[in-house]
Amino acid sequence: MKPYALSQPLTLHEASAQIAADGADALPLGGGTALMLMMKTGVLAPAALVNLRQTELQWRRIERQPEGDLHIGALVTLSQIEHEPVVRQAVPALAQTMKRLSNVRVRNVATVGGNLAHADPHMDLPPLLCALGAHVLAISGQQQRQIPVEDLITGYYETSLGRGELIASLVVPAQQQRRSSYVKITTRAADDWPTIGIGISLDIESGVIRSSRLFVGAATDRPTRLQAAEQILAGRQPSETLFQQAGEAAAAGLVLRGDERGSASYKKHLLQVHLRRALLALAVDGGGAS
Ligand SMILES: Cc1cc2nc3c(=O)[nH]c(=O)nc-3n(C[C@H](O)[C@H](O)[C@H](O)COP(=O)(O)OP(=O)(O)OC[C@H]3O[C@@H](n4cnc5c(N)ncnc54)[C@H](O)[C@@H]3O)c2cc1C
Repeated sequence: MKPYALSQPLTLHEASAQIAADGADALPLGGGTALMLMMKTGVLAPAALVNLRQTELQWRRIERQPEGDLHIGALVTLSQIEHEPVVRQAVPALAQTMKRLSNVRVRNVATVGGNLAHADPHMDLPPLLCALGAHVLAISGQQQRQIPVEDLITGYYETSLGRGELIASLVVPAQQQRRSSYVKITTRAADDWPTIGIGISLDIESGVIRSSRLFVGAATDRPTRLQAAEQILAGRQPSETLFQQAGEAAAAGLVLRGDERGSASYKKHLLQVHLRRALLALAVDGGGAS
């Protein structure tokens, strides 16, 4: 691996300024689980790494705001999300998704900021976070802005973050009566990268589906919204026939990309079958991840 300089700023603003000043040669370091692999294989060869792990404590905390929103600092590890009671209470699907996301060694180190900035289209969290309507708070120098997770990931390993712009926190809005789940389908080990992953959020009131947010991951170059299926569900009563139609519509309207975990046509079939099953499970008994 090419030698690199390592700095340890004490604030996220300082880290952001340093990366912006160093040009394309400096990269932020979260848990390092993705970055180090990319450096070892020569995909990335930065001259400097800016370690974010010494920055303010506030970026390592999970807090539920009085209005119910969940604020998760960028340096929070995936294990913290898995075990924090407030996450299980507010968004059970988020905590449950962690159980099959890689392995405990990775989850103990990987950070939520690094996870989202990595932007591998096979990641488990983004489709669920898109379905939940989550956004990140990004800082650049003294500026800050909100970016919906669905606008953050723009392609293979690409995000809408500017140079030196850092994810400071993730905000998951209060879900109120909405039910959510994440379905991970693997063709190898249960905790392997997904062949496809489906994030679902349903708002059912008085026996009618008011609205839904459905996203599929590991199918295209970014989490993809399943709008045709959402339109079929809107204003209708849950039923097996309706969910069958939604599964068919989701698969019909999508151009998928195959990879080493499944061909495009196989992924399409998985999407159709598992979206139907997951909608049924969610309409009948609540939420979670499988
Ligand atoms: C063996 C293995 C198996 C895995 N299996 C899965 C799986 O099944 N499902 C899944 O979803 N993921 C899987 N992963 C990926 C894993 O989730 C990511 O490696 C991890 O979440 C990245 O987080 P990190 O903090 O280690 O990021 P890092 O490696 O530190 O950084 C990743 C990228 O984000 C940038 N970055 C870091 N922090 C920030 C920030 N705050 N703001 C802006 N940019 C930042 C870095 O410069 C780098 O480009 C696996 C990884 C490994 C090693």
